[in-house]
Amino acid sequence: MNTKLIDPGGSGKPHCTGHPVLDTLVVRGSSLFEPYNGAISTPIYQSSTFRHPGLFESTGFDYSRVCNPTRAELERTIALIEHGKYGLAFSSGMGAISSLIKLYKPGDHLIVSEDLYGGTYRLFTEYYEPYGFAFSWVDTSNLALVEAALRPETKAVFIETPSNPMMKVSDIKGCAALIHRQGGRLIVDNTFLSPYFQNPLDLGADIVTHSGTKYLSGHNDTLSGFIVHSSDELEEPLRNIQKSEGASLAPFDAWLTLRGIKTLALRMKRCEQNAIRIARRLRSHERVEKVFFTGFEDHPQYALSCSQSRGFGGMISFYVKDPQDVPVVLKSVSLILFAESLGGVESLITYPLVQTHGAIPEAMRLAAGVTDRLLRLSVGIEDPEDLIADLEAAFRQCGTGGTL
Ligand code: PLP
Repeated sequence: MNTKLIDPGGSGKPHCTGHPVLDTLVVRGSSLFEPYNGAISTPIYQSSTFRHPGLFESTGFDYSRVCNPTRAELERTIALIEHGKYGLAFSSGMGAISSLIKLYKPGDHLIVSEDLYGGTYRLFTEYYEPYGFAFSWVDTSNLALVEAALRPETKAVFIETPSNPMMKVSDIKGCAALIHRQGGRLIVDNTFLSPYFQNPLDLGADIVTHSGTKYLSGHNDTLSGFIVHSSDELEEPLRNIQKSEGASLAPFDAWLTLRGIKTLALRMKRCEQNAIRIARRLRSHERVEKVFFTGFEDHPQYALSCSQSRGFGGMISFYVKDPQDVPVVLKSVSLILFAESLGGVESLITYPLVQTHGAIPEAMRLAAGVTDRLLRLSVGIEDPEDLIADLEAAFRQCGTGGTL
């Protein structure tokens, strides 16, 4: 019996070279099957530690915080589908971001998208600013503002594109060119579009991060997070941070995420089709003032979206005309669930003001457009007419209603 593991070093190096169509890659992952017994589904190596054959000998796996075969398969797979050389899996998206920020040191300055996920804002301001890190919160969809915020000590630009929740699109190539001029890195949180619709590394980004909890896992049943990059220089420091911090992804959660990724292509297409339909209908509703969706041709960065992404995704934000509609809609939806997350098969509605962006100071939130009238929809894969009927029924509870 062959007792060699498929990736004895757990190096995270992709097995396949080149980039066959993503629709196939997501299903087959990195290893295609498990080599000893032919298991189609990657086994869950639920072991914290691994036996050494002898002194100074190793199977390549010593201790699961450092490396685990199930996680290694997931790390190779995410690297492959995100067009990177290396992938690292963490216990959550915040675990990934918190680990990668440790590449920097007190005195370093980072430019950050002004309307990014509130948890990232909290991590940076409450836990890293006190240690001497400096952050500038900038509308990164405007390259002139990014350029103006650059300082000699700026080491990175960190963007979410599309941004959360205002759906502003930042120019990935443009941001990369600006920060590369002074030897810094562009970091892109690619959670909203997933590697299925956007590959920032192909556009000049240096590091991609993900909340794998969202589209990658896709079923609202696990947390995970990723860092993907192609730098031989960064791989060792990042592995060392992962090993030292201990926010590595557990084997069962790695398996759930691997299973989710298999249907990423189908889910992303369906979420997007549903979102296009719902965004158009929401726009004409009498109780809705404005809809933010990157798939609208009159979205300010529509052309940019089309040039750097392969799709618009399933996220929609909208202002209702009357803030008093907000609690009524949130209480009245029944198929769409009022819950804080995104990217799963189930449609969710979120109130960014108190949920995802509750940690952001009021003045900054308002400047970014996160007001008491803003709702955010993560459109799932249900029948779109059922979702529309659910929203219509919720609006009817607010007053005169109207059809979507
Ligand atoms: N990045 C984005 C864009 C998010 O929306 C989130 C969570 O909502 C995170 C990062 C953090 O991910 P996690 O909740 O998996 O820690």
